[in-house]
Amino acid sequence: MLEGVTDSHRKTPVKVTKSISLSYSASEELLSLLEDFRLMCNAAIRIAVQEKPKNRFKLIELAYPQLKEYGLHTHYILSACEVAFAAYRNKNRKSIPCVRRAFLKLDNQSYALNHLLLRIPTKPRNFIFLTLQGSERHLSYIDDPCLKRASVTITLTSVVIPFSKEVEEFEPTGFVGIDVNERNATASATDGWHHRFDELGEVVEIKERYRDIRAGISQKTRGDRRIAKRFLSKYGKREKRRTESRLHKMTSQIIGYAKANRLGIKMEKLKGIRRLYRKGNGQGPSFRGRMNTWVYGETQRQIDYKAKWDGVPCWYVNPRGTSSNCLCGSRVAPMQDRKLYCPKCGILWDRDDLASKKIMDCVVPQARPSRGSDEGERGGDGSNPRSGWREGRLKG
Ligand SMILES: [Zn+2]
Repeated sequence: MLEGVTDSHRKTPVKVTKSISLSYSASEELLSLLEDFRLMCNAAIRIAVQEKPKNRFKLIELAYPQLKEYGLHTHYILSACEVAFAAYRNKNRKSIPCVRRAFLKLDNQSYALNHLLLRIPTKPRNFIFLTLQGSERHLSYIDDPCLKRASVTITLTSVVIPFSKEVEEFEPTGFVGIDVNERNATASATDGWHHRFDELGEVVEIKERYRDIRAGISQKTRGDRRIAKRFLSKYGKREKRRTESRLHKMTSQIIGYAKANRLGIKMEKLKGIRRLYRKGNGQGPSFRGRMNTWVYGETQRQIDYKAKWDGVPCWYVNPRGTSSNCLCGSRVAPMQDRKLYCPKCGILWDRDDLASKKIMDCVVPQARPSRGSDEGERGGDGSNPRSGWREGRLKG
């Protein structure tokens, strides 16, 4: 039996979306199309600023004759007006908005995607074909007939395709608690599954290495900011790719287990601050702090959206004294090698194991059956202001 889980809040299917980004190399023809589209957007913005249309359709009516002269398919006119109207509506009243970067957006009726071949129209009965670079993971989305596709966005370097589907959260038969640490993430489940993921340690090392590389670049290219910028961007992208792929591997594994075994996920309500002051890797506190916050945030973000996508219920909880109290509630004594000893149970805990088990054991916030509330959705971030949990009191 599960404590504190109502069944009122996961019956209705919700729409979830997820975008995937694929790289490709743009042909001359496509570059000129992107540029034309940018000009069309800006032309439509100017018309909008002058004529002050009430809605997008009015703008289409006003801009149609002028945009038609670009000779592109009607889809582009509609899409440019949509982009322009959004920019016009959002503009800071002081200046006229302007689309600076070449890009284009096409609604899902006008493009065709077959495996990794994207076909977009230019003029009536004329098409450009783009070969996208995608992995197995990308293909699993593209080839899934259950997913709906929305408007595609094409930039100079990538194609972004949003997918959506309706998902019904399942009723969990147990929970996985996930404790995210500086160098590992530990998962403990009510079915006895226990796993320590060391990818976070690798991520931290990668980030440290790239920090040094970046420092070196700034030093060597001093005086030439243009070159420095180019190098920094190149290394920045590489760093991002390497760190994110490790986190993806880890978070996918967690979600995969939870889904296969119908377990709900519980994570600690993230308060980077608490972890900032953990010592030990010889870096300055501010650097360590920023890095940890990024790793925690990114880990939780990935788990969160993957859970939503797969219909895995997910909660944020506030465990009290994750590393100062045993599961039985009595105080533990810190021992060597991140071990904690509970004199009452006689158990020698690993600090991270204990933390994840405590998170796993936490009662799901505001899911009190006695209330019978039909507010449904777990409210906001699942915080409970009266839980007595204070950031300042807990030390790592
Ligand atoms: Zn105990």
